[in-house]
Amino acid sequence: MNFSDSEIVASILKNEGYENSKNPEKSDLILINTCSIREKAEETVRKRLELFNKYKKKNSNLKIGILGCMAERLKDKLLNEEKIVDLVAGPDSYRDLPNLLNTINDNKKAINTILSLEETYDDILPLRLNSNGINAYISIMRGCDNMCSFCVVPFTRGRERSRNPYTIINEAESLFKNGYREVTLLGQNVDSYKWSKLINNKKKLEKSIINDDIISFSNLLEMVAKINPDLRVRFSTSHPKDITNDVLKIIKKYDNVCNYIHLPAQSGNSRILKMMNRTYDRPWYLNKIKDIKEILGNDCGISSDFITGFCSETEEEHKDTLSLMDEVIYDYSYMFYYSERPGTLAQRKYSDDINIEIKKRRLSEIIKKQNKHSLDRNNLSLEKKYKVLIEGYSKKSSEYLKGRTSENKMVIFPKTSFYNKKYIDVKIKSCNSATLFGEIC
Ligand code: SAH
Ligand code: SF4
Repeated sequence: MNFSDSEIVASILKNEGYENSKNPEKSDLILINTCSIREKAEETVRKRLELFNKYKKKNSNLKIGILGCMAERLKDKLLNEEKIVDLVAGPDSYRDLPNLLNTINDNKKAINTILSLEETYDDILPLRLNSNGINAYISIMRGCDNMCSFCVVPFTRGRERSRNPYTIINEAESLFKNGYREVTLLGQNVDSYKWSKLINNKKKLEKSIINDDIISFSNLLEMVAKINPDLRVRFSTSHPKDITNDVLKIIKKYDNVCNYIHLPAQSGNSRILKMMNRTYDRPWYLNKIKDIKEILGNDCGISSDFITGFCSETEEEHKDTLSLMDEVIYDYSYMFYYSERPGTLAQRKYSDDINIEIKKRRLSEIIKKQNKHSLDRNNLSLEKKYKVLIEGYSKKSSEYLKGRTSENKMVIFPKTSFYNKKYIDVKIKSCNSATLFGEIC
């Protein structure tokens, strides 16, 4: 999400005459787009700020700005108390950056952390940064209304709002024309995407692709899928309470909608899920997994997020997470130990009472299990043939190419003279828990 936002910022600044630089030490302006999701993310930003302030001692022209969630959360603290930045801009204020930059160029401090109920940057065509020319992100909504008790996002990114679908289609069409072959539709909770001419239409619609007044996520997915069968479509993130069978049916209907779902469980225990305010319990979650497997088959890639050591989590409740993993057998998971965030519901209501060593030990147990499951799932691919979208050279050798299957598995295979294609069929010959290795067939 931040990467995608940085591309919007780069586009706004390009219109103001700014250019990208690969050399921060010699730059006139450094903007850091920041994350507040866990304490560690904020610590990383602080280390960067220290480094950039050292550059400032050598280059007095240099101005430093902080963008994104940490800017929103800390407001003017870094500007006025700690005095380590010149500019602060929250996630909804990027259109104001030209004004803010004029202010700091007059040697004044600049800040805008106003959250919006409407801003979606829908008319801004992002400037693709460090792009491989194949994969691109498209932001389809902003903010989140879910209020999971551990999560700072609703406070830093504001209320949920959906972007005009016709601008999304235009962006995807233009990416396809420019050679891109995969778009990932991004939102904190894509299944609650909802756009209606009546609610959202302040601008006149120029073309009407479908007649319905209300466009849901499954409608949007279908609209993007129809652009071209050679354009792969992914999306992230789905919330278990909101994902619908309509979405699963669109995945099944269109070969170019990838056979992969990221469905964060967070915990396998119903009491903890209730405290997390996830609004589903373990049986509900497992039922969704059952629907996915029934409609899309066992090949469909499924991944999750997990948090260990949430407030008051007992050893037995932790074991429920391990047993949920055994029931689902995920292809991949993003796993974290709980990090208390100021201002969240959990911080106000519950005590962060699980010792850090226990949190880390529980985390290592779920990581170990996930690694085994990833290997088990990858082993199922052996001797099977997959259509791979080529993303470039493998990291280790230019004799090998890398690409992904529809199920989101990374495949490495020897380069051949066919390398001017976008897609290629590869038969899998071996694997480890992270990667498949194959031959062109
Ligand atoms: N909107 C997405 C994810 C947002 S944040 C969703 O609901 O799935 C990405 C992940 O970070 C979350 O799924 C959660 O697993 C993790 N996370 C969020 N807040 C956290 C916290 N306070 N401590 C540890 N992990 C956290
Ligand atoms: Fe945070 Fe929950 Fe919203 Fe995801 S759905 S961003 S975890 S509040």
